[in-house]
Amino acid sequence: MMDFDFSEEEHAFRKKAGEYIAKIAKPGVAYKPTFNSGYADTPDRKQFMKDLAKGGYLGLSWPEEYGGKGMDPVYDYLLTEELAYQGMPGSGKGVGIIGKTLLRRGSKEQQERFLPQILNAEIDWAIGYSEPDAGSDLGSLKLKAVRDGDGWRLNGQKRFSSSAHFAEWYFLMARTHPDRPKHKGITLFMVEMDHPGIQVNPMWTIDGHRTNEVFLDDVWVPDSQVVGEPGQAFYYVAEALDFERHVLFPLGPIQRLSEIFLEWLNTATIDGEPVRDRPEAKRLAGKIARGLEVCRLQGLSVLAADDPKVATIRSSMNKIAMSEFGRALADEALEMMGPGAWLSDSDPDAPAGGLYARAQIAVVIWIIGAGSNEIQRNIIARRGLGLPV
Ligand SMILES: Cc1cc2nc3c(=O)[nH]c(=O)nc-3n(C[C@H](O)[C@H](O)[C@H](O)COP(=O)(O)OP(=O)(O)OC[C@H]3O[C@@H](n4cnc5c(N)ncnc54)[C@H](O)[C@@H]3O)c2cc1C
Repeated sequence: MMDFDFSEEEHAFRKKAGEYIAKIAKPGVAYKPTFNSGYADTPDRKQFMKDLAKGGYLGLSWPEEYGGKGMDPVYDYLLTEELAYQGMPGSGKGVGIIGKTLLRRGSKEQQERFLPQILNAEIDWAIGYSEPDAGSDLGSLKLKAVRDGDGWRLNGQKRFSSSAHFAEWYFLMARTHPDRPKHKGITLFMVEMDHPGIQVNPMWTIDGHRTNEVFLDDVWVPDSQVVGEPGQAFYYVAEALDFERHVLFPLGPIQRLSEIFLEWLNTATIDGEPVRDRPEAKRLAGKIARGLEVCRLQGLSVLAADDPKVATIRSSMNKIAMSEFGRALADEALEMMGPGAWLSDSDPDAPAGGLYARAQIAVVIWIIGAGSNEIQRNIIARRGLGLPV
């Protein structure tokens, strides 16, 4: 019979991981529940990641010869979900997108240099793909890399480089071959964030998170810090996103916010009447349960895909399902809670901890980030249904 649940062993792993996470997290490490993934951006949060590494929780699905545990990727998924559910910093772009790209595409020297540091949470990364004129259409990026001796000289601007203000390394794409078709002329580089030619300026999101614009002025990068073949970055990045998009959009935060709202719905009164007695409250509770289940199954379908093409399409569907359910949840919960829900999350009288007004704003980032939902629909149409570009 088909089984849509995790095995006993997998459930036990998540429980054990959850207990370990709760034990090592000092006060202030967890973020308040919202849709945004948290970063390891403070000394306590960095220490949390190191302790997570010490507990053997980083690189679960990496091959053993690279220091990983050689476990099924489902365990990475479960860890990501538990971290997100508890509001902790994510296990990082390092073990996911960047580590896995280095495992597949990096040189032996790069693997020896970076993989142990990633596994021990000694370094963090910023990702520099987006630019002022290249977001959805990443193939149009302009940041220039010109051949110079045994390396490349980089000049230009990136935008929305989250983590760039505290990360040690920058994983960025630059145009190395302007004469080639646009998707074939881009190369992946790893650059030290403390390079004197790099300037990082803050950009604040509407819900108070920091991302950054980054300027590169004559930044020389040796060939030893080029990932894979020059000109192939676009394909490496797409390949990594296919398998890692579910790490960027875990179900945990939506599950947590849903539980907080349902707790309110079950216990609150409005004008002396229990909210739970209202027909519309029951309808909304049913809708939330159904939405969560659809998202859960959609996430599992990404995990179950071993064909990259299928994984890509399901990842896109998953991202749309999560973000659209998140938006509907935030909108409808706010409407039911009424004006009090707009009180600040520091006000003890705010229903559902005052978390929903912020969540409604934060969910916009889920809709846009890592490729907007319109772009995900285009991917499904093109790669899944064979429609023209
Ligand atoms: C908080 C935050 C953090 C981020 N962090 C990072 C990061 O760390 N690193 C990084 O590289 N990037 C990051 N991004 C950038 C993110 O990936 C881009 O914002 C996203 O890809 C959209 O690009 P854009 O902002 O240039 O919008 P645009 O591409 O200009 O799109 C604007 C609108 O037009 C729509 N649109 C565009 N093209 C099409 C099309 N062909 N068909 C239909 N609709 C279309 C889009 O869906 C969108 O609604 C971050 C963004 C945010 C908001």
